Amino acid sequence: MKLEKDNLYRAARNRMVKEQIIGRGISDERVLAALQKVPRHLFVEERLQDQAYGDHAIPIGEGQSISQPYIVAFMSEALGLTGTEKVLEIGTGSAYQAVILAELAARVFSVERIASFISKAWQIIDRLHYSNIVIREADGTYGWKEEAPFDAIIVTAGSPTVPTPLLDQLKIGGRMLIPIGERGAQTLQKVVKEASGIRITPLIPCLFVPLLGTFGFAPTGAASGPLPSGGTPPAVAQEVQTSLLPNKVRSQSEPSTMPSHP
Ligand code: SAH
Repeated sequence: MKLEKDNLYRAARNRMVKEQIIGRGISDERVLAALQKVPRHLFVEERLQDQAYGDHAIPIGEGQSISQPYIVAFMSEALGLTGTEKVLEIGTGSAYQAVILAELAARVFSVERIASFISKAWQIIDRLHYSNIVIREADGTYGWKEEAPFDAIIVTAGSPTVPTPLLDQLKIGGRMLIPIGERGAQTLQKVVKEASGIRITPLIPCLFVPLLGTFGFAPTGAASGPLPSGGTPPAVAQEVQTSLLPNKVRSQSEPSTMPSHP
C-alpha cells in the first residue's frame, strides 16, 4: 500500500517536473534532478498530500504556504548554484526550498520567525537525512551574522526594500533573490554584489507573504495588508502573474482549499 502510494507520488513528481518546470523553460539539470528527487508531499499536512504536486502553492498553517513548484525551481535556477556554495535562506516555512537548496549547494542556513515551523522543519530534515541544513528561529531581516558571508541569499517572503544586513552579509560576487514591493504585489529581484557596487535586475512579478521584521514590513497592525483578497491572510506564498509567464500558470488568487491537481 505504502509502496503503491510512493510510486504514485513519484509519477506525479515526474509529471510536475516535465509539465510545470521543463515545460516553462527551466533547464538547469541539477535543479531538475533536485525537484525530481525531493518528496514534496512530505512537506505538507497529510490531508493535503494529494495536492502536493499541483501547479500551485499549498497552505502550511499560520497563514503561510509552501511555494508553487515552478517558483522554487525558478529561484533555485536563478541562484546559479554549482554545489560548493554557502547559502542563506530567509523564511524556512515547510523547509521544502531549504531541502532543494541542500541538494544544490554545500551548506544551507535557514531562518524562520515562527517557532512551530522550526520543529516541523527539523523533523523532515532528519527524516530525509540532510546533514547540511541548519535552521534557527529569528528575525531573518538581520541575516545570520555569525555565518556570513554567503555566496547566495534567497528570501522567500516579500519585502519593501532589500534589508541592509542581508546586503552586508553577501560575498563580493554573491547573488540574492528577493521579492521587493508592497504586501500584495512584488517583483522578484536578483541582486548581485560586485566590487564596484550592487547590480539589481527585476525578473518576474510575484506575490509572496510579507517578510515581517525590523528591515521588512512591520509585524504589528494590519499584518495582512492590502491583499487582493481584501485583507484576509493570503492562502498562498506566491504566484506569478499569468500574463507574464508561459502557459499554464494559474491565476493570482487561489482559494485556501485548492482542488486536487490532475
Ligand atoms: N520557503 C518556504 C516558504 C516560505 S513562506 C517553503 O519552502 O515552504 C514565507 C516564510 O517566511 C513564512 O514561514 C514566514 O513565517 C517567514 N518569514 C516572514 N518574515 C520573516 C522574518 N523576518 N524572518 C524569518 N522568517 C520570516
